[in-house]
Amino acid sequence: MKNRGFFSLSLFFLLLLAINQLPAQTLTLDDALKNLGQAELRWDPFLASGVFSAEGHNAAFSSGSQGETGPVLFDNREILDLPLPYTDQGGMLRFPEAFVARVKNTFSRYAEEDKNRFRIAAIIVDPGHGGKDEGAVGSHTVNGKPLKSVEKEIALKVSLLLHARLAAAFPDKRVLLTRDSDTFPTLEDRVSLANAVPLKDNEAAIYISIHANASFNKAARGYEVWYLSPGYRRELIDKSKYADSKEVIPILNTMIEEEITTESILMARSILGHFDRDFGKIMPSRGLKAEEWFVVRNARMPSVLVELGFVTNEADAVYMNGDTHLKDLSEALYKGIIDFVALFERTGGFTASQ
Ligand SMILES: [Zn+2]
Repeated sequence: MKNRGFFSLSLFFLLLLAINQLPAQTLTLDDALKNLGQAELRWDPFLASGVFSAEGHNAAFSSGSQGETGPVLFDNREILDLPLPYTDQGGMLRFPEAFVARVKNTFSRYAEEDKNRFRIAAIIVDPGHGGKDEGAVGSHTVNGKPLKSVEKEIALKVSLLLHARLAAAFPDKRVLLTRDSDTFPTLEDRVSLANAVPLKDNEAAIYISIHANASFNKAARGYEVWYLSPGYRRELIDKSKYADSKEVIPILNTMIEEEITTESILMARSILGHFDRDFGKIMPSRGLKAEEWFVVRNARMPSVLVELGFVTNEADAVYMNGDTHLKDLSEALYKGIIDFVALFERTGGFTASQ
């Protein structure tokens, strides 16, 4: 028995020796790149280190000596110990097959995760009023000339500018307008347009309604951002699906509602933050407000309503009459929205389960 054990052990070591002496398969850079598909390599000959990149993902490594393994850093989030690329006697970079294979399947794992990542797939910009509904109107005399400040026109101009900016920034998202001319979609039309946008399970839409304010008090001025009141109970769950478990319906409804409310508040805050930064010195901030605006209330997505300023206040009316100023207003909205989108997508949709 003792001898047989010794024999098996020897055989094992012999085998190990044989495996070690098999020449490891290596690839040239061209073959490695071909293998990795759309990848490219940035190589620093002085540091003898490089980064493979493919579809927004990176694998960073330092070259080793032939047969050496070492750390390869993927996207600053994961380190794998792999056989390292090395420079052969002819000065050519050689890539161990095992290295290329692991880089390849790590990249494809990341690509798969990207597909399931929570994202905002649609942004609906809603210029308030329109057509026969002018919204609020303010009439002023400025430097002896009449100035008529009309909410539907201001809302449309700012919305068109905002839409163009968002569409250019997010070619991979649907950026929609509820109207792009002087027409009058009803509130129901606007909400059903928003709710009809097809979304996958990992996708969300956001809704931004643009308005201008009015008051009998001509001194009232400034901008404000509204979001859905948390007190409003919405019925988002299809009850027929839960016929046997009625007690979960109110719980699920509350969860969805609170999730959307949280996101609406964060989007409202993000927009208000940029308004405060850009216009805080020009016009007063009236802050965040919670209400049950129909158009915000019935959209089943994070929604905000922005009041740009008061058409009934002369200073605000003059401000909103200038094309440069309307561009500035749309720019602040744009920055508020892209910050929110970045935060939302980075955190995987906040409270959404994945
Ligand atoms: Zn309005």
